[in-house]
Amino acid sequence: MNPKIKPAPSPDQLAAVAAYAARHGRTWRAALMGAWLTGRDAQEPAGHLLRQVRNTCGPAWLATVTMAELAPKESAAPSCPHCGRDLETDAELAAGLCTSDDCPRHDPAADRLAATLASMPEHEVDTIRSALAATRCAA
Ligand SMILES: [Zn+2]
Repeated sequence: MNPKIKPAPSPDQLAAVAAYAARHGRTWRAALMGAWLTGRDAQEPAGHLLRQVRNTCGPAWLATVTMAELAPKESAAPSCPHCGRDLETDAELAAGLCTSDDCPRHDPAADRLAATLASMPEHEVDTIRSALAATRCAA
């Protein structure tokens, strides 16, 4: 994993943080950091999701996340971390990368991965997708 890619909470986790931010106003980061330190996050609505973000992404992520990143995307489709193109095929979604030749980080390895994933049973692709999501968040 590229350490320059920011940890990425799941959409559920982001939504929980966004809702927290909406409740706590301008100083929400300090409020959430305090809640994380004291364990009060567990009593918040969706507290278990806030706790997951603390455990996997932590204070460094909190310090740098922007409201734009918290805002729900217009399209629910995940996008390529390198070019922002929407990921469309199951293989692209599972790989977390686009396979567009126009992508600045186009990587033949991603094509091979996509081809491999496309030939795998759905439940195995799901397993890999969850594993990749967990890895991204723990970076
Ligand atoms: Zn791309």
